Amino acid sequence: MESDGWLSVLMGYEYRIGDLWELMRVRDEVRVTFIFVGLKESVDVDDDDSSSLLINTPTMENRLKPMDAEQLREYGHKMVDFIADYYKTIENFPVLSQVQPGYLRNLLPDSAPNQPDSFQHVLDDVQAKILPGVTHWQSPNYFAYYPSNSSVAGFLGEMLSAGLNIVGFSWITSPAATELEMIVLDWLAKMLKLPEDFLSAGQGGGVIQGTASEAVLVVLLAARDKVLRRVGKDALEKLVVYASDQTHSALQKACQIAGIHPENCRVLNTNSSTNYALSPELLSETISHDRTTGLIPFFLCATVGTTSSTAVDPLLSLGKIAKSNGMWFHVDAAYAGSACVCPEFRHYMDGVEEADSFNMNAHKWFLTNFDCSALWVKDRSALVQALSTNPEFLKNKASQANMVVDYKDWQVPLGRRFRSLKLWMVLRLYGLENLQCYIRNHIKLAKHFENLVVQDPRFEVVTPRIFSLVCFRLLPPNDEDHGNKLNGELLDAVNSTGNVFISHTVLSGKYVLRFAVGAPLTEEKHVNAAWTVVQDKATSLLLQNGN
Ligand code: PLP
Repeated sequence: MESDGWLSVLMGYEYRIGDLWELMRVRDEVRVTFIFVGLKESVDVDDDDSSSLLINTPTMENRLKPMDAEQLREYGHKMVDFIADYYKTIENFPVLSQVQPGYLRNLLPDSAPNQPDSFQHVLDDVQAKILPGVTHWQSPNYFAYYPSNSSVAGFLGEMLSAGLNIVGFSWITSPAATELEMIVLDWLAKMLKLPEDFLSAGQGGGVIQGTASEAVLVVLLAARDKVLRRVGKDALEKLVVYASDQTHSALQKACQIAGIHPENCRVLNTNSSTNYALSPELLSETISHDRTTGLIPFFLCATVGTTSSTAVDPLLSLGKIAKSNGMWFHVDAAYAGSACVCPEFRHYMDGVEEADSFNMNAHKWFLTNFDCSALWVKDRSALVQALSTNPEFLKNKASQANMVVDYKDWQVPLGRRFRSLKLWMVLRLYGLENLQCYIRNHIKLAKHFENLVVQDPRFEVVTPRIFSLVCFRLLPPNDEDHGNKLNGELLDAVNSTGNVFISHTVLSGKYVLRFAVGAPLTEEKHVNAAWTVVQDKATSLLLQNGN
């Protein structure tokens, strides 16, 4: 027995380690705190609990060290088992978490432990306290927002990235991280048939951002600085940004950060006549008007697959307008970009050759675990000029000699993870053909759901389905508030079952339900079951409302 291995008990008792067994047998149902050389453990002890207390107690041998290869192996296996079991039983959880705000405060202590807890206790807490507060994005019954895919390949890549844990801001900090990112984004650009200008061999290239929001921010900053270099930096208040009212709010946030005056953000109206796509005529007119008042149009954001309803803006005409006005043209294909690796959907990107930048989220619908947002630019020097800094402590020969890409100059933060590993794993371990099948299957399932909706006369499909999102609504028995309240109630009723999770939007003032297929485990039986829930809840609601 080590002389410093002693044990202290609440209520002021102190015992040596050798007294542990005795203590547990004599003190039933007492909360016991004991300390081994710098390790403290608290547990509730009752008649039968003594053995689990022993098992769960971190001893000198098994307490976690900051890094120990054998411990990593042991606990890593346990964690993988835990995650694999989670996936096996994922359908047992309510897909939308049903907890109330603040639920976790009541379940966890007010402050972090002074001494280590055991791994098993932490896992037990994950099971009992954390998982109830998780909304299960990987559930096959998840149909909300847009998907955020996990996959075995993506998970393994993420694991490897966490394992190496490099911070690859400059080439020198891990040459493989920069070079793999360039290569993998060239691969993906070729899969998407992006114009060659976007490849890293020329003046352009790809970079992995965390999110589509960061992607639009950095290109907006590049475009802003490029135009200000031309017209003078005092002209900031004259710069104008254009997008449709269906463009993701990420653009508005980017404008706020970039100092674009709020009154210079043109949010152009769309409607059902163009299926919510931006009208080139309206854009042209607005730009002309702005020019006559002395403003400087400088940035246009178009979308392939808008967030509300998957509208596709006409890239070719919009791009030509942007080009003839000397504007930066950004294309946001955060969700639908993935579908464009299939030849039959590639035409939705036609006109991308006019773009200065193009973005798609591999973490949405391309089996790459969050986060992995792929951004390509034709002129990387615009990004670098806007975002580069060169402090003494980061100087190195490769960077000074301009021989390498330093991705720190293509993004907002300095530090960056080795995210290309997971995209590389996905591309290699699945291959293009499997990825195409994966997308096609989801689109087929969405089409199936759309057919189910069409067959029930109580419902309508609101916008033509293009990819894997179906926008639909319950027709109101009377036209009071366009049935908005009724559809809001239907959404709540469906989601409160925990059996399915869908989300909503508003199009032309109408509350619309969104059913987005895209979780990796979703099969036709899940789509059918979800539709049954929607129908049953609609029947109850209509009955309640006297119809
Ligand atoms: N753009 C579009 C079209 C989206 O649908 C989304 C999110 O769903 C975003 C941008 C924002 O994505 P992120 O969370 O990657 O910033």
